[in-house]
Amino acid sequence: MKKEEVDVLVIGAGPSGCVASAYLSNHGVRVKVVEKSKFPRFVIGESFLPRSMEHYEEAGLLEALKAKNFEIKAGARFIRGKETCFFDFSNKFGEGWDWTWQAPRADFDHTLAQEVIRKGVDVEFETEVLDVSFKGTDSVTTVRNKDGETYEIGAKFIIDSSGYGRVLPRLLDLDMPSDVTENSAIFTHVKDDGRVGGDEGTLITFDILETQVWFWVIPFSNGNTSLGVVGPTKYIEKLPEDPGEALREAIRRSDYYRDRYLNTEFIFKPHRIKNYSCSVKQNYGPGFTLTGNSAGFLDPVFSSGVCFATESALLSAKLFLKERAGEPVNWEKEYSDYIKRGVNVFSTYVKEWYTGNLQTLFFHQPENPDVKRKICAVLAGYVWNEENPFVQKHDRVIKSMAYLLQNGGSVDEFHI
Ligand code: FAD
Repeated sequence: MKKEEVDVLVIGAGPSGCVASAYLSNHGVRVKVVEKSKFPRFVIGESFLPRSMEHYEEAGLLEALKAKNFEIKAGARFIRGKETCFFDFSNKFGEGWDWTWQAPRADFDHTLAQEVIRKGVDVEFETEVLDVSFKGTDSVTTVRNKDGETYEIGAKFIIDSSGYGRVLPRLLDLDMPSDVTENSAIFTHVKDDGRVGGDEGTLITFDILETQVWFWVIPFSNGNTSLGVVGPTKYIEKLPEDPGEALREAIRRSDYYRDRYLNTEFIFKPHRIKNYSCSVKQNYGPGFTLTGNSAGFLDPVFSSGVCFATESALLSAKLFLKERAGEPVNWEKEYSDYIKRGVNVFSTYVKEWYTGNLQTLFFHQPENPDVKRKICAVLAGYVWNEENPFVQKHDRVIKSMAYLLQNGGSVDEFHI
């Protein structure tokens, strides 16, 4: 059987795989990417976080993305009936980027992958990983290419960025159920012919239909808009069985968007994803790391998926380089604990969203600008900034503050 040798094998050419491979290639590493599908390909996850801009910048991918003129996302709007709450990233606590993009992933990921290829990385599309075996930290990966040919790739290190494919979690029995509530989603794209001018037309919005059910509107710069509904699986299953009719029904339940989208034609038959949250027992091992969705996924409500994908990819690449340079790496501390710290912050925000506590804080009037700035930093992806009490004390602050407000108190009485 044919056999290739590389330093690092990256599985998957999504944002995670592209950031890891670009960074490694920039540092002279022999890296190869194998990608099951043919690009451009559809994947969900179209709203990004400012924090991820740092990852594209460090990987040398930012300019290629800028050239595509994707829709700028400078904040996010949440609507509940007649109440509105807008987070403007330029008003966030602490340092960091104050904008990012909202973009169709087929174009976005294709742009990343083409730039990675331009940098000289060998990206093999329509090539699927079938099996991986490890001897110490060395590995042999069996793949099948588009001609049906099976061959092996030897690597000193594997970065598993296979997203929902979750290649190593499946092969090494690392899967673990998530502790986030079982939610499901239905989504599609529409041609947004009724788009109004100005910010209203292009603002990314999350419309709360019920405490645990929300509808997303993500307008793209190509004139199309992504629409989706998310809620407890039991709620989603009570909608009509046909995903098109189910999404139509969700639109009907949105007072804000009913007129704009009820009769709009769907560009493709809506997709339904059931119980999407997942986790792993460990996100690294001898000779490999899991990045992005391969390591787990919480919930789409705060658009954190791609940001974690690129954060973990960049860190994997940096730690591989550190180890290759002869410096010791404590993978548990420097990789696993670090990623978990960020995941835990978002996990609290996701859970407190669905309890309604976070919504109490979002919509409380009068707004407390200091509290808002600090929550805004979390929503921008700055979940490792321990100077932010809404990061450092995430497990207590939202619950306690919501309790105070629900019992007639004021945020000003609250000492963080
Ligand atoms: P992916 O982008 O999924 O890429 C993985 C790649 O690996 C794929 O191209 C796949 O073809 C390839 N692959 C799989 N198996 C194999 C194999 N055996 N061999 C070779 N290649 C393989 N995130 C956000 O940031 N913002 C959002 O607004 C958002 N909305 C979401 C809405 C819903 C309903 C859901 C379920 C998720 C959402 N997400 C969102 C999460 C987002 O989809 C993921 O976090 C993100 O795509 C992860 O990127 P990745 O690079 O890890 O994997």
